[in-house]
Amino acid sequence: KTELDIVIVGGGPIGIACGLEAKKNGLTYVILEKGPIVNSLFHYPSNMQFFSSSEKLEIDEIPFISKEAKPKRDEALEYYRRIVTSNKLNIKLFEKVENVQKNEGTFTVVSEKNTYISKQVVIATGFYDLPNLLNVPGEDLEKVVHYYDNPHYYSGQKVAVIGASNSAIDAALECWRKGADVSLIIRGSEVGQRVKYWVRPDIVNRIEEGSIKAYYNTTVKSITENSISLNTENDVVEIENDFVLALTGYKPNFNFLEKLGVNISNDAKKLPEYNPDTMETNIDGLYLAGVICGGMETHKWFIENSRIHAKMIVSDIISNTVTS
Ligand code: FAD
Repeated sequence: KTELDIVIVGGGPIGIACGLEAKKNGLTYVILEKGPIVNSLFHYPSNMQFFSSSEKLEIDEIPFISKEAKPKRDEALEYYRRIVTSNKLNIKLFEKVENVQKNEGTFTVVSEKNTYISKQVVIATGFYDLPNLLNVPGEDLEKVVHYYDNPHYYSGQKVAVIGASNSAIDAALECWRKGADVSLIIRGSEVGQRVKYWVRPDIVNRIEEGSIKAYYNTTVKSITENSISLNTENDVVEIENDFVLALTGYKPNFNFLEKLGVNISNDAKKLPEYNPDTMETNIDGLYLAGVICGGMETHKWFIENSRIHAKMIVSDIISNTVTS
């Protein structure tokens, strides 16, 4: 097998940025992606609008032209796909990486389809694979989902939306606008402060006028085919229900990192150890890029502030090659 300079695990915006940077610098590389190009974005809600303006989502200053200042999901799919195709990036799609192992200075990366040997590995697997579960009876019913797509499906239905951040609030508003009867179940005492600044007044007003019923300081107790039981501040309340959108966030899969011996902080943040100047972990040659760097703090790194990781990693790899 030929030995590559870099295997990049994950073909999200940041994995693609790493591939492009490697190519520009004459390194041999492959991006391995378990789904289509930018799989996470593909699974975002169809009508989703980014909170970042398009130039902040650009890779390598390649212009991202969008109709409005803040692009929609479909425009982002188009943008990142064109980066892959016009730069002829070496990306293998629908090829999930199952194991990464270090032996004698090189890595062996085993995917569903192939085995690769490389000097360096970049893990850019994001955070969108594992939803934070409610862990309540009934969560496994088909009517309970952790990914929301399109409001049309829920028209005329009794929908409970769980969560108080952007995903939950966008879904609650969209479903209500398409004629769903929406209850919003919020664990804390208010709509999240990180909700997009132009969306927050909309949801607050819909709640105040009674169009969307909000239950604050409330958690889900259990779910059945026709109802959902809530632990409110004072009582257990049971409401009729057709669908549950449990949009309580996602968490990264630390599988490869843990198996390879990357140090992960022993607290709720689960922060992986890496050098913030180079993005290299405590394992030589193993780098982290993108949202995975934040551990359970999945809001800390996003496209806007982590696209820089690509240049940091590739320049570190080049300088190590020159000095060794
Ligand atoms: P991802 O985009 O999650 O990419 C990781 C990739 O790795 C995925 O394609 C996945 O399929 C793949 N993968 C995972 N495991 C494997 C495996 N074992 N083998 C092969 N491939 C694998 N950020 C912004 O900057 N601005 C915004 O406006 C913005 N809006 C957002 C709105 C929503 C609704 C959400 C959910 C997120 C938003 N973000 C935004 C955050 C942003 O989308 C993420 O931070 C970004 O996707 C991170 O890129 P990434 O490449 O690190 O991870």
